[in-house]
Amino acid sequence: MHFFFSFTLLLLVTSSLVAKKPNVLFIMSDDHTSQAIGAYGSRLAKLNPSPTIDRLAKEGMLFENAFCSNSICAPSRATIITGQYAHTCDSHDLGGRIEAQRQYLAKEMKKAGYHTAMIGKWHLKMEPAAFDFYSVLPGQGKFHDPEFRVQGDKPWPKNLIKFDGMHSSDAVTDQTLKWLKEGWDDEKPFFLMHHYKAPHDYFEHAHRYNDYLANVEIPQPPSLTNSHPKGFGSIATRGHNDELVPHIGTSIGKRNPRRSYAHDLPRRFPQDYPKDYDPEKLSDAEIQRMAYNVYLRKYLRCVKGVDDNLKRLFAYLEKRGEMDNTVIFYTGDQGFMLGEHDYQDKRWMYDESMRMPLLVRYPKTIKAGSRTDAIVGNVDFAPTMLAFAGVETPGYMQGNSFKSICETGKEPRGWQQEAYYRYWMHMAHHDNPGHVGIRTKTHKLIYYYGADYKGQNRTPPAWELYDLTKDRFETVNQYDNPDY
Ligand code: CA
Repeated sequence: MHFFFSFTLLLLVTSSLVAKKPNVLFIMSDDHTSQAIGAYGSRLAKLNPSPTIDRLAKEGMLFENAFCSNSICAPSRATIITGQYAHTCDSHDLGGRIEAQRQYLAKEMKKAGYHTAMIGKWHLKMEPAAFDFYSVLPGQGKFHDPEFRVQGDKPWPKNLIKFDGMHSSDAVTDQTLKWLKEGWDDEKPFFLMHHYKAPHDYFEHAHRYNDYLANVEIPQPPSLTNSHPKGFGSIATRGHNDELVPHIGTSIGKRNPRRSYAHDLPRRFPQDYPKDYDPEKLSDAEIQRMAYNVYLRKYLRCVKGVDDNLKRLFAYLEKRGEMDNTVIFYTGDQGFMLGEHDYQDKRWMYDESMRMPLLVRYPKTIKAGSRTDAIVGNVDFAPTMLAFAGVETPGYMQGNSFKSICETGKEPRGWQQEAYYRYWMHMAHHDNPGHVGIRTKTHKLIYYYGADYKGQNRTPPAWELYDLTKDRFETVNQYDNPDY
């Protein structure tokens, strides 16, 4: 009898352990690029901008080749929540909107028994009604004194709460902690999307970071000063006889007279410039160097604010005993140009912009300190999170789960060997021509088709081909080289 009772109890305990699904915590910062994460080992790594985020790499897996299929906010977010490419979920540009019926990731996680929450930057315009709980920034939201749209008596989007005197990264984290403490029904595993607005432009960090890196000369990419060497780009990105070089892509230095940080930042952030700053007395190179430093310091202060807040969040999960029961994803919605080729912003298919940082920690099945060069995309994120929740990829999703890559370090047979890319907003905002392309582990092929949606606003069409095995910073277009 005693033996039978113990055996039954053991079975019960075992089956409840098997049935217990992990929490899934998806952390995304806005425009946080891999160059600004220490674990990626870029020129900025020695500044140690992200020790807490680096911990996820040290204790989990780092993805070297994670890419977005459209390097801009709303489309990337739409792809993540739907598991579909921009052309399928109809979110080609910043006008993309995803209503509750198509917030598939949240719906499927709820169906799988998860308690779901969305906190922070949302940017998909419609009410995040597929989540059990939400508190989201209106549109881009504000860095200081942020407001959030929440559930309440009035119809969306009229229920607002305000955090006077606070920075958005602090307010997002406080709300996540509050939900974990008071809102989460811990009979169920949680699925939590925790999204920062930082380090999106214009990089308004919390005041406590005013002095962070203030006296540090930020390491430059070689392509900042030598932005358009012979061989780089094409007539699509530099025009016949380089006539478009001053017009394509926002600049750090004075290259683009319409949009450049050399003009913009001294007006926006005079406190970050020397009191006697006078561009009339400085060389163009010196003006560019100063704009670059102000830009990177502001950006990295925002990154530091995210990192410090994640330290608080992880400390709480540890105290609660949930850190190791949680599959933690860290990513940015796309990459960002930090002065490479004298560009800022995203939109480009160049690696700094197309690559997403991606770290995944779950010590129960993912080996600490592992890395992979498997090609994965933001279209694969939803299938992967669902796989960790024990759910098969629904037929309407276009991505593939990379859970087995996380757990074995090996690509399954037939795994995708290229990433598809398309940027649609031809010559909008930051003067980037629309383009389409593919990237493999070794090469990148881009076609700039030279027109907007209506076939107007023409620029010269051209191809670019980069050999990433020899030219990882994409400085020589090999398209016309017969060897290729
Ligand atoms: Ca973004």
